[in-house]
Amino acid sequence: MLRVGVNGYGTIGKRVTDAIIDQPDMRVAGIAKRSPSLDAAAARERGIDLFAADRDGQADFEDAGLAIAGPVEELVDRSDVIVDATPAGCGEEHVPMYRRRGTPVILQGGEAADAADASLTGRLNTDAARSARVVRVVSCNTTGLARTLGPLADRFPLDGAQATLIRRGGDPDQPDRGPIDDIVPDPVTLPSHHARDLNRMLPDVHTVTMAVRVPCTRMHLHAVTVRFEQPPDARVIRRQLAEEPRIFLIPGGHGADSLGALTVFGEDIARPRGDIWETCVWAESIAVTGRELHLFQAIDQRCNVVPENIDAIRAIAGGPGPAEGRGRTNEALGIGLTEHQPATTREPATR
Ligand code: NAD
Repeated sequence: MLRVGVNGYGTIGKRVTDAIIDQPDMRVAGIAKRSPSLDAAAARERGIDLFAADRDGQADFEDAGLAIAGPVEELVDRSDVIVDATPAGCGEEHVPMYRRRGTPVILQGGEAADAADASLTGRLNTDAARSARVVRVVSCNTTGLARTLGPLADRFPLDGAQATLIRRGGDPDQPDRGPIDDIVPDPVTLPSHHARDLNRMLPDVHTVTMAVRVPCTRMHLHAVTVRFEQPPDARVIRRQLAEEPRIFLIPGGHGADSLGALTVFGEDIARPRGDIWETCVWAESIAVTGRELHLFQAIDQRCNVVPENIDAIRAIAGGPGPAEGRGRTNEALGIGLTEHQPATTREPATR
């Protein structure tokens, strides 16, 4: 049984914690937080041990009636693997402490690539993670793109890809994020950083990304164009994407034609927190012009990297090979929305 500690208990940290609880071969060693909060109190009520990220902050927890099991270093020592889900840029500052104590760590996409021995997502680079001590799960946007481009590149010779990322301004619990009434190229300089990670992990598919930030908290929307060496068949592509457990091919004719509608769908199927872990590709958007394939996809940014964090924990702990590891994660979380896929895409892809 792998003991996994989670340092940073916000949007990503609390979801990864719940996903660890769902794995039959893992258990939560504890969580570390910087300051008292309602979510820390809720975790304590569920019997999860709470550690103080700052020694100076320990008294604040006690003043708030929250029992502390010790400083974060003790959590690191009692864990076989640490998931660091602290705000962007903090994780890499913690790496020397994890290395000193000999505990392997999973960082998040907000950290610089060179802070880790390897970056991973979906089916890309999981093998490299098996020999690393510090692994970074790439950002939610990059993960979403890799889940679509990776399987296509496995099956077809591709010339390259281009994606425009329409990014949510902030998560629902971040009232200080914007914009309020604007659309912001983010960054103005091109390509955006997502392409760097993708091109490192998928070097044969030269990808260019451009990102803008909009006043929305729900999800990210991607407009993707993939160039094939030969003209692709849209029906074959639809079937292939439908076979990927971490892609949800949104059926046409059901009115699920907005990010809001997808959010409500996640709540209706009673997923924890309404989370949709899968990359959501609109089946109706898949179109071919010449050698180019076009599609729209949506990314639930608060949760889509959670399965990849679980894969990374197994990989860094020297667990099963990549395909089996992903299969175990999918099964334990209940990933795959095949019963909601269009019937015509369920038959095997042939070409
Ligand atoms: P968050 O702000 O929601 O949560 C961070 C948590 O860490 C908070 O509970 C905060 O109190 C705590 N914290 C702050 N400083 C700390 C410290 N020094 N030690 C321990 N805990 C500390 O952040 P998030 O959105 O969960 O992002 C975490 C990481 O995941 C970032 O690298 C981010 O780029 C990445 N990420 C975020 C999203 C997203 O959409 N939210 C998606 C994918 C990846």
